[in-house]
Amino acid sequence: MQRKSQRKSKAWSYFEEHQLPNGKKGTRCKKCGDDLSYTGSTSNMLGHLESKHPEILKEMEKTQEEEKLSQTQLSGPRSMFKLTPLPPATSNVITKALVKYITADMLPLRTVESENFLSLLRTLEPRYSPPSRTALTQTELPRYYTTQRSSQRAPCQRSEQRQELHIQL
Ligand SMILES: [Zn+2]
Repeated sequence: MQRKSQRKSKAWSYFEEHQLPNGKKGTRCKKCGDDLSYTGSTSNMLGHLESKHPEILKEMEKTQEEEKLSQTQLSGPRSMFKLTPLPPATSNVITKALVKYITADMLPLRTVESENFLSLLRTLEPRYSPPSRTALTQTELPRYYTTQRSSQRAPCQRSEQRQELHIQL
């Protein structure tokens, strides 16, 4: 069961998922067996605890308070951004791959401004901030073409070497 890691709220320790007679998703109070509709948040559960089992709610709030005090790291989705920053080397590698993807597939430069594309990048690496379209044209593309040119020089050098070999033979 992954429930504990996915749902941080303590309220879930007192409820379980339960399908309502109308087929909708609901929760059932472990304490009294009452069915509640589930609206995507714990508000119904908390409301139930408040009116039916105030002592549980009190206990819950107490433990949550204690945990908050002892917790050094933030939990929840925000904690992702609390991770160590992306090393510049990694960021450069991603940018290089991004530029290669755009140039090799001859994609429009506005791709880097596409919300869906940015969402993909954020999903893969939330700490990465892609270059703007301007940065792409003014910095990244010229740099990419420069490295491309220098890597294309390698085969020439090799053929020069081969020629030398021929001469020597
Ligand atoms: Zn109850």
